[in-house]
Amino acid sequence: MKIAVIGTGYVGLVSGTCFAEFGHQVACIDIDTQKIQRLREGLVPIYEPGLQPMVEKNCAAGRLSFSSDFDPFVGEADVIFIAVGTPASRRGDGYADLSYVFDAARAIAPRLRDYTVVVNKSTVPVGTARQVARIIAQENPHAHFDVASNPEFLREGAAIADFMRPDRVVLGVESPQAEERLRAIYRPLYLIETPFVVTTIETAELIKYASNAFLATKISFINEMANLCEEVGADVHAVAKGMGLDGRIGRKFLHPGPGYGGSCFPKDTLALLRIAQEHGVACRIVEAVVEVNAAQKARMVRKIRAALGGTEAGKIIAVLGLAFKPETDDMREAPALTIIPALTEHGAIVRAHDPQAMKEAAKLLPEVQYCSSPYEACEGAHCVVLVTEWNEYRALDLPRIKSLLAEPVFVDLRNVYEPHQMKALGFRYECVGRKGPI
Ligand code: NAD
Repeated sequence: MKIAVIGTGYVGLVSGTCFAEFGHQVACIDIDTQKIQRLREGLVPIYEPGLQPMVEKNCAAGRLSFSSDFDPFVGEADVIFIAVGTPASRRGDGYADLSYVFDAARAIAPRLRDYTVVVNKSTVPVGTARQVARIIAQENPHAHFDVASNPEFLREGAAIADFMRPDRVVLGVESPQAEERLRAIYRPLYLIETPFVVTTIETAELIKYASNAFLATKISFINEMANLCEEVGADVHAVAKGMGLDGRIGRKFLHPGPGYGGSCFPKDTLALLRIAQEHGVACRIVEAVVEVNAAQKARMVRKIRAALGGTEAGKIIAVLGLAFKPETDDMREAPALTIIPALTEHGAIVRAHDPQAMKEAAKLLPEVQYCSSPYEACEGAHCVVLVTEWNEYRALDLPRIKSLLAEPVFVDLRNVYEPHQMKALGFRYECVGRKGPI
């Protein structure tokens, strides 16, 4: 099967590479000429475990190529995946910005030759695939094509494993031909008995938003329980375990913290609310999820301030972890982007470390002093705040950290450490949902 993937970001690059790994002939196309140039030189522009060797292997095998030209790849493709970004619109109204998707559709349209399936892999509001179909038909009335929806569920940091062994593949199709082509692409997954949900295009589009909104709901729910635990003296980890062992609830996504971030949950929950609003349907749970998430980030700032004795003015704060989660360099909507400015605004000096995201972070948080190790960040600090639970922060040399700090204050927003152990080491330790009031 010949495949063109439009957009070579986290989703497009991983999908394209994995399709090549399945044995297909894949061209990844991006308008970012610098990105394509680097990929052609063998440099993978994002940090994603396992991706670099898989890109190298498939390029060497002649199955994977990169281009900033749509020709000749789009015309030759059996299936074209649109995997461009759909960020929240700059207007700030929560709508997804579909301009990249529509630009891609306009670029594809005149180049279509034989029957082609144009698939939206980007997360897009219900009805977008039909709009893409309209654009293509307008631009090229002779084009012989179908549109389809194949939302992507991979997680950054585990993207290859998620793509190669997904919980399910969702295909929104409206013709047997389109279904057949998409099934052929994913055939290697039949061998590992991956469930396929084949449905209408609108249903597939909504499955993606409903899934992300539900996961965000679990996070906001456990964060509220954590806050309640702090007031009543309960332990949120035991609460989460006690709940999660119930098979109807499930143990995953019940980990308290500073609130969700990343390139998907924040924008997708807002976009779902806009879709619901446009159709006159109340989605009050998702509204609350969004509000609770914002409140959780503000609560974390208050927690840090309280740990510093009531004010951050003039205090040095060591921040460990900046990316929105471990194993990625992605800073989009990272909790650190809300928490750090709220502290520096009131006179705090922030020294930070992240194993992969400092380059990205420096563009967004120029006021921060970036350090080459967690220990360097802690030198002379009045408090250390663990924001992202990278593995290397799970086994810190705690006596060394304590000796470097000006005050032995440790605020653990990911509950990586045990309160009694931290106390025994002489830290004033704050975490989320495991002890008394703020
Ligand atoms: P990204 O910002 O990392 O990459 C998007 C790429 O598209 C960029 O390289 C950009 O240059 C390119 N692009 C934009 N317009 C183009 C055009 N007209 N032609 C060719 N290339 C173009 O985005 P991402 O994180 O990969 O997300 C892509 C989509 O997948 C979004 O809709 C997102 O919601 C969804 N998604 C993301 C994830 C994730 O974990 N990142 C997971 C599932 C779904």
